[in-house]
Amino acid sequence: MSTTNTLHVLVSGGGIAGNAVALQLLRAGIRTTVVERAAEPRPGGQAVDLRGPSREVAERMGLMPGIRRYQLDERGMAYVDSNGQEFARMPSEMFDGKGPIAEIEITRGDLNEVLLTELATVGGDLDYRYGEWIEGLDQNDTGVEVTFASGGTDRFDLVIGADGVHSATRRLAFGPEEQFATYLGGYMSFFTMPTPTGSEPGWFKMHSVPRAAVGIRPDAEPATSKAIITLRTDADPALRRDVGAQQRLIRDMLAEAGWVAPAVLSAMATTPDFYFDELARVDMPTLAAGRVTLLGDAGFCGSPMTGMGTAMAIVGAYVLAGEIASTPDDLTAALTRYEAIVTPFLAKAKELPGGGIKMMLPTSRLGSKMARAGVKLMTSRLFKPVMMRMMTDTDDYELPTY
Ligand SMILES: Cc1cc2nc3c(=O)[nH]c(=O)nc-3n(C[C@H](O)[C@H](O)[C@H](O)COP(=O)(O)OP(=O)(O)OC[C@H]3O[C@@H](n4cnc5c(N)ncnc54)[C@H](O)[C@@H]3O)c2cc1C
Repeated sequence: MSTTNTLHVLVSGGGIAGNAVALQLLRAGIRTTVVERAAEPRPGGQAVDLRGPSREVAERMGLMPGIRRYQLDERGMAYVDSNGQEFARMPSEMFDGKGPIAEIEITRGDLNEVLLTELATVGGDLDYRYGEWIEGLDQNDTGVEVTFASGGTDRFDLVIGADGVHSATRRLAFGPEEQFATYLGGYMSFFTMPTPTGSEPGWFKMHSVPRAAVGIRPDAEPATSKAIITLRTDADPALRRDVGAQQRLIRDMLAEAGWVAPAVLSAMATTPDFYFDELARVDMPTLAAGRVTLLGDAGFCGSPMTGMGTAMAIVGAYVLAGEIASTPDDLTAALTRYEAIVTPFLAKAKELPGGGIKMMLPTSRLGSKMARAGVKLMTSRLFKPVMMRMMTDTDDYELPTY
């Protein structure tokens, strides 16, 4: 994939999607500007899975040496009760890398670091701006006039909105978030904390109570772990951007959880990378509005419950950059092909394994007991074929080569 052209592409958002597409555009000789709203790279996030097509893309993009440096030692997943007593265990090899633990696991923050390291050395015409975002978009047949928060304006041939589930680019070019996002019944939070004493190295452990679950997942460093919290509750718009209110909700809902919940709640107050967001699904009728297109969570999000957000972001980035580079002088055709090629992959990747939050987090003690019995049964080797059918399998997706 190499070409020379005069295109100038603006990417809004420096997450996995934005950085991956920027890298591929630069490799294709395309002038690229990235604006990231945060003042610096955003750390944080738990392990993300690379399997099937997303692993193949990571290989084709030359990311594997970097990924291997940060690859997590995850040996399996287990369920514990409020005393930390284990009642179900799934070693990672049990589902041949297709289960909850994929063959390649890396934290979201580390994967972003791998992409940023590649971007720093890729060469080409890259302008990367932190603390900047789009405030206005005005497009016609020849380009998009962009007004930035810092006050400047610039003209681009194409704008890629890779600015996450609450995408401002989507709002400006396609319409309000409510038109495209569906609340899936809860919130999730991820953050780094000191590894609780007595933790079993390499094991991802989960515990649930009515309406809430808390998990501890290995980090790249043994001294730290990732806390994962899932809450089943009605949507509350007041929670957005109010970290105090978000942490109060978590404290209330995990107050009686037992196990490592007290250590998790105490670490939450001082963690450097607290992340909290609603579980939402994003469905767009189309990924292109003239010279503006969407990528990653901005355009297709199934929520962290799918475990496929990063896979969709990097497969989408690879295809989008590949199609733009194939016909740089016909962006409409490139965007049409991008959408047609990624849609079958997205349809599968957005499916919720196991039926979503209602199945995962019952609201009563009796429901929790029944869910526990279900987990025991489903994690027994006898039920392996049933579980395998429930897992999202995108291995038969035909990834184009660029
Ligand atoms: C800090 C963090 C932690 C996460 N942790 C997990 C996790 O543990 N598990 C999981 O499944 N998913 C997690 N996610 C979501 C996951 O990263 C995505 O589902 C997936 O990687 C696709 O990424 P994305 O680049 O499309 O979106 P995101 O990862 O959300 O990245 C979007 C980027 O755009 C930036 N941005 C937002 N608004 C604007 C704007 N107006 N202008 C410019 N830039 C903007 C954001 O700061 C962010 O860097 C996390 C996301 C973030 C940001």
